Amino acid sequence: MASEKEAALAVTHSDSPTIFDKIISREIPHHVVYEDDKVLAFRDIRPQGPIHILVIPKVKDGLTGLSKAEERHIDILGRLLYVAKIVAKQEGLDDGFRIVINDGPQGCQAVYHIHVHVIGGRQMNWPPG
Ligand code: 5GP
Repeated sequence: MASEKEAALAVTHSDSPTIFDKIISREIPHHVVYEDDKVLAFRDIRPQGPIHILVIPKVKDGLTGLSKAEERHIDILGRLLYVAKIVAKQEGLDDGFRIVINDGPQGCQAVYHIHVHVIGGRQMNWPPG
């Protein structure tokens, strides 16, 4: 299996459908931890900690990554972070957690549908790799 870095470098940035569309449409199974009309949060298939959740908008609207954000995305960007806080609380991450948004090849982004990683349940290090 390719490492996250190899997967990220193999992907080209595009607005094409991604694996997350199949997760939103329930074509592939996933473990939902939060859902509302605009946002879905589910467990990452390759967790980088005891808790690893991805928070995504149900409608991508061109937001393949943070670098593509425009003014019309301000509300959904705020909602993604707010839901990240809700799921962190839900998961009992009361001693802290890490929020990550990978962007582009150098940022190690592999899936071009914006997503917020919520990682916790272990001590984090700084700087990140
Ligand atoms: P990125 O590197 O783009 O920031 O993160 C993509 C994340 O999506 C990775 O952490 C990866 O493990 C996760 N992922 C990729 N495919 C699937 C899948 O089919 N199901 C779930 N639950 N997570 C996935």
